[in-house]
Amino acid sequence: MFIKDMFLKRKPVISFEIFPPKKDYPIETIYDTVEALKDLRPDFISVTYGAGGSNRDRTLEIASIIKNKYGIEALAHLTCIASTKNEIENILMNFKKHNISNILALRGDIPNDPNFEFPNPLHYEYAKDLINHIREFKDFSVAAAAYPEGHIECSNLELDIQRLKDKVNAGADFLITQLFFDNELFYNFKEKVVAKNITIPISAGIMPVLNKNQIERIISLCGTKLPKKFVRIMEKYEHNPEALKEAGIAYATEQIIDLLSWGVDGIHLYTMNRPQTTRRIIDNISTIRDILKQEEKLSI
Ligand code: FAD
Repeated sequence: MFIKDMFLKRKPVISFEIFPPKKDYPIETIYDTVEALKDLRPDFISVTYGAGGSNRDRTLEIASIIKNKYGIEALAHLTCIASTKNEIENILMNFKKHNISNILALRGDIPNDPNFEFPNPLHYEYAKDLINHIREFKDFSVAAAAYPEGHIECSNLELDIQRLKDKVNAGADFLITQLFFDNELFYNFKEKVVAKNITIPISAGIMPVLNKNQIERIISLCGTKLPKKFVRIMEKYEHNPEALKEAGIAYATEQIIDLLSWGVDGIHLYTMNRPQTTRRIIDNISTIRDILKQEEKLSI
């Protein structure tokens, strides 16, 4: 099924993101995670893709298992920055062969390697170019990344939204956001996006923060702003892993409840391959999710 069609049928669409285990870990270690996540009845599960080349084959293998063994719709991430156009063509053929029909089309981060050539005439330069290419096939529904606070390489949010519009014009069917901790930033972003006439569904990316290293890594990678309330909680509990985890789950739950009340199209949970934490959050919102489903049935 094309994920874009799920957004026509239900709101919110609930999805989970997982990443493949590192090369030296057996791939089977992820299957227990998928099995546990399956019980939480996500609408789809997405699998990340190593931009720099590591672990890339595993994305397809895991997405294929999710779809063909567990019967859950899969969204395979695909980055273009380090692959030739021919390589991308082969990857797409393989996706098709394995019944994968949903792709999150990304550029990927520019590697730190000073010898890395960007742009490279053999490669697609931006996600919009990859999306253009994928749209030549009728076999795929395409998602793209959106950045409520702007992408880290672009200091002007309006300009970044204009480039988001280029991805939508190239054929993106729906968007998934970078994680954020301040819902107001998402609501402001949504206003600006609608003003630019971008009307495709947007799933909000939420990550429960479970330890201090994770927060530091996130800030260095994507520059996400931390609201005062969040910083207070983190500072108070940073030396107590159990308390920090509880606070992280509570914070993510509160964010999601607010987003659901606001009427968000979808929630995309960055699970960090931790099904127990994901279960806690899904349990916390289950009553609200049921109420929304009932309301939707009554309005049909
Ligand atoms: P683009 O949309 O191409 O944008 C990249 C930058 O280029 C932006 O600053 C944009 O403003 C700028 N730009 C766009 N068009 C132009 C133009 N014409 N001229 C000049 N500048 C332009 N990374 C991975 O490696 N693997 C993953 O699995 C992965 N999954 C992700 C999932 C989500 C939901 C998100 C939000 C991000 C994910 N990323 C992943 C990270 C992503 O690859 C990086 O953020 C990357 O730096 C940008 O990718 P993009 O597709 O958004 O790029």
